Amino acid sequence: MTFTKTNCAVCHVAARLTCTRCKVVRYCNGEHQKQDWPQHKSCCRPFREQQDAQLGRYLVATHNVMAKQIIFVEDPLVVGPKWFLTDEEKSSSIVPCVGCYTPCRVDKHHCRNCRWPVCSIGCEHEKLECSVLSLGSAPRTKTDVRALVDYYRHDALLVLKCLLLQQQHPDRWRALLEMQSHEEERLGTELHQEAEQRIVGYLQQRFLQRIKQSKQRDSMPSDYEPQLLHRLCGIIETNYMVIELSTGIELSGLFRQACMMEHACQPNCYFQFDAATQRIAVRAGCGLKKGDHLKITYTNILWGTQMRQHHLLMTKHFSCRCARCEDPTENGSYVSAMRCLGDVSKSCVGVQLPVDPLDEKTQWKCDTCPMVVDAAYVTEVQTHMTEQVESLLAGRPTASHVELLLARLSQLLHTNHFHMFNLKHTLVQLYGHEAGLELATLSDLQLGRKQRLCNELYNVCHLLDPHSIKLAIYVSTILIEMTHTLEERARRQHTEAAALLEQAELRLKEAQDVVEKVLDSVAGKKLNDKLQQHFAEHYKLTATLKFNK
Ligand SMILES: [Zn+2]
Ligand SMILES: [Zn+2]
Ligand SMILES: [Zn+2]
Ligand SMILES: [Zn+2]
Ligand SMILES: [Zn+2]
Ligand SMILES: [Zn+2]
Repeated sequence: MTFTKTNCAVCHVAARLTCTRCKVVRYCNGEHQKQDWPQHKSCCRPFREQQDAQLGRYLVATHNVMAKQIIFVEDPLVVGPKWFLTDEEKSSSIVPCVGCYTPCRVDKHHCRNCRWPVCSIGCEHEKLECSVLSLGSAPRTKTDVRALVDYYRHDALLVLKCLLLQQQHPDRWRALLEMQSHEEERLGTELHQEAEQRIVGYLQQRFLQRIKQSKQRDSMPSDYEPQLLHRLCGIIETNYMVIELSTGIELSGLFRQACMMEHACQPNCYFQFDAATQRIAVRAGCGLKKGDHLKITYTNILWGTQMRQHHLLMTKHFSCRCARCEDPTENGSYVSAMRCLGDVSKSCVGVQLPVDPLDEKTQWKCDTCPMVVDAAYVTEVQTHMTEQVESLLAGRPTASHVELLLARLSQLLHTNHFHMFNLKHTLVQLYGHEAGLELATLSDLQLGRKQRLCNELYNVCHLLDPHSIKLAIYVSTILIEMTHTLEERARRQHTEAAALLEQAELRLKEAQDVVEKVLDSVAGKKLNDKLQQHFAEHYKLTATLKFNK
């Protein structure tokens, strides 16, 4: 995907002259560029940087911007392998190729010079990086996979890539060091200790301390003190963006301007990545007004406030103060709410909500009766439920298993609680697809259940992310399942078929619109394929039912 148009914005012939300011539009000649400027002016980088004590640096729209319009395109400061690895990934014998990041076996092909794993002989990687890595003593074993995995720590490469900017791109190096690192806050934390053991100590002892003896030391970084490396870890942790390639591979990147965008639990922007140029394009997720802050989300918005706050505090060192975070009902979605914990007979229909959602130790109060419980109790209940939900979903459950747990959890949780959401989202994909539960075999009751669940899920998504920016995959999945349900009802109720099919078509078109935002991801592409096929089937069905009338 390239973000630059290929034809002249005025006369539409193939053109080579690019607007140097935004690098998005092209012209065949200077005359046409001049002619277009009055119109282009308002969409050529329609934002500016601002700064204040509370937010630090942030970006503001300087013109009204249409949904999906590119706001800016930017080159990276650095792009490298995935930064945050799970424990399984840390001990896996499948690692990203140092050249192209394709997953490869740690013990198969190796770079001739530095011995780091590559996907195939001849896949090359950056020269300076290779020289530094070749200072290490790679294990001479081919069989001791544990030793190999421990030696080739690919997450450390992102820090090394940052460090090498000193030599390679002094301007990018300066921009990188201007980013927030939260060094002070990190000191003494688990994050710091882990970075010390896994990254800083490792890079120091295995590679960097050997630079002094290297013949090529003049071309290598001269500054690689532990403190600097920790600062780079902090900068990455605070600012990195998760990039998902269309192949499913996840990378991490730092971008000067994109990283300045403010976090909010309800974003108004999203970004796309071009693997060939490593450029990022930030697009408006909905119509923006002049003066709007550009916002993206650095956490999972399907989590409740307590979990989002904890995650943001641990990884980004700030506590979000957005409208949703301050609202105990979370925009009326009730995704953290419990049912009144007051009495077992459930005579109170109230919901238990945090008094101050931004305080971890807050009390939770029923909105109808005087029942109050403390945070520790709520956390205990939630943790227990997380385990149950995760272990059920990990085991490819059937619809009836999911229904059972759902019924159990509904004793304690609000019907929109994020655990309930998770289970219901699984359920709508089982009804109509599971063996024995194909659409045609569902009872009217089951079909009605599927439809109700879809509506509930759709409403929650709409409250949390009204423009389906962050939840695009979830929303399009729900819309597709809604369409299945409407079509099946049309097959069963001939008198209402026309109206039902019309609704189904609207849902399909809405799904198409939503899925366009995530076409660069594997899941998005898959959904889009499914959607195209679904469109064809839908029109066939419409024709058949009309004919049979
Ligand atoms: Zn032209
Ligand atoms: Zn421009
Ligand atoms: Zn490769
Ligand atoms: Zn190499
Ligand atoms: Zn928030
Ligand atoms: Zn109550």
